Amino acid sequence: MGEDNAMTHARQPRHLHDGTLYWPKTMSTAPSYPVLKQRISTEVAIVGGGITGAICAAVLARHGVPAVLIEGQHIASGSTAANTGLVQFANDVMLSDLIDRIGENDAVRFYQACRKAVVALAQLSADTGEDIGYYTRSSLYCASCEDDVAKLIREYSMLRKHDFPVTWGIPSKVGGEFAKVKAGGLVTHGDAEMNPVRMAHALVSYAAKRGVQVFENTGVLEVGRLNGKFTVLCAEGEIVAEHVVKATGYLPGIVTQAASSAPILKRTYALVTPPGQIPEEWPEHYMMWETARPYLYFRTTPDGRILAGGSDEAMPDTGCDAKILQDRTEGLLAQLRELFPRQDWTAEHAWCGMFGESADDLPMIGEHAEQPGIFHALGVGGNGTVYSMIAASMLRDRILGRDNPLTPLLSPSRNQQSGSSSISPYWPSSSTQPSTSMFA
Ligand SMILES: Cc1cc2nc3c(=O)[nH]c(=O)nc-3n(C[C@H](O)[C@H](O)[C@H](O)COP(=O)(O)OP(=O)(O)OC[C@H]3O[C@@H](n4cnc5c(N)ncnc54)[C@H](O)[C@@H]3O)c2cc1C
Repeated sequence: MGEDNAMTHARQPRHLHDGTLYWPKTMSTAPSYPVLKQRISTEVAIVGGGITGAICAAVLARHGVPAVLIEGQHIASGSTAANTGLVQFANDVMLSDLIDRIGENDAVRFYQACRKAVVALAQLSADTGEDIGYYTRSSLYCASCEDDVAKLIREYSMLRKHDFPVTWGIPSKVGGEFAKVKAGGLVTHGDAEMNPVRMAHALVSYAAKRGVQVFENTGVLEVGRLNGKFTVLCAEGEIVAEHVVKATGYLPGIVTQAASSAPILKRTYALVTPPGQIPEEWPEHYMMWETARPYLYFRTTPDGRILAGGSDEAMPDTGCDAKILQDRTEGLLAQLRELFPRQDWTAEHAWCGMFGESADDLPMIGEHAEQPGIFHALGVGGNGTVYSMIAASMLRDRILGRDNPLTPLLSPSRNQQSGSSSISPYWPSSSTQPSTSMFA
């Protein structure tokens, strides 16, 4: 690459997502909310109107906790708009591997919390009374190669031992070339698929109807402390709150963590086919993923499309240009063709998005030791939505003064070594108006 090109690329900003998103097109009109232009007092100020902020707002509303939700752009316009909507209790780190790392008690407790969160999300979705495409599904987890079969057998035994709903083997009704291409598989039950944009909007509406005040186009500039309360400063208004929830997602500069617990930013790709492409041999709308890293995953949509994702890579310093996106989209389609060769696979929408992983594969939820009183709700990893639900439950417990056994395990400062912090006392005042997309 010539020097000029390198400089041009280096100047391109990184976005939460690029390409043509699918979910926003499934909502012809979305509710809108005013800009904050006054000073208000509340118990909880939630910063960030993605799926995480929306779930937190709905859970607090259900418990009658006074709250304000502040979004710098529009509800569900950040990573939530790129989210492919798989809701699974099994996650990027297998239960058996997590047991090796943190011991059986904590690992099982965490997996149980994920399972409980899937059930809670179903309930919350039903409570909104809106059609958000939330359907219970089973997930086929394939061994990508012979070497991974033993790992999967161990995983199956651990899940069984601890009463998680799981069955062994690629079901015979799964047709295509699965049996040839994948070396084995297990099926987890009681997972779900959903439309994240519809879901975030439905939850925010649910919360607003129960008294949560919602503001859009209201970027938080700074969070400070005054007389024992938090002051949340925005361009044209201010909120005084007892508690602040940081549900701002993955934007660099806003995700401020101690160096030891900073999320590892990656880029991932997704596509959706035109409607009517579900192969006949695809049973019961199974969701599919695999042991390879990065993994290919796919699901169906209520209007008969396949939604596939994967090809994760280290987050480049550049934006995603059309050529890279086309190349990765072709790669995903080629993997689908390998499994269902009789199908003529094409993509109607293709996009990429930024996401974060933690070094130990666990989300960062709770108070950071160096930002007392600010509750971090950062659901890093492929199971962001499930982690957002866990965050909302932990937030509820904290506000209501209940103990939560996950607190030490998921603390954002859990891996912090003394002296390694890069965190500011309360809130960084930089990059307040996030750029979410170049052309979606
Ligand atoms: C392609 C892709 C596929 C994915 N698929 C899945 C999946 O299938 N299942 C799953 O569980 N997860 C998935 N994820 C992860 C998932 O998208 C995220 O975990 C989740 O959507 C993050 O939601 P959030 O609300 O935390 O962040 P966001 O949706 O980014 O919301 C944060 C909000 O905070 C606002 N904000 C930031 N700073 C400020 C400020 N200073 N003031 C006011 N507002 C501010 C932003 O504007 C933004 O709207 C996927 C991610 C990608 C990129």
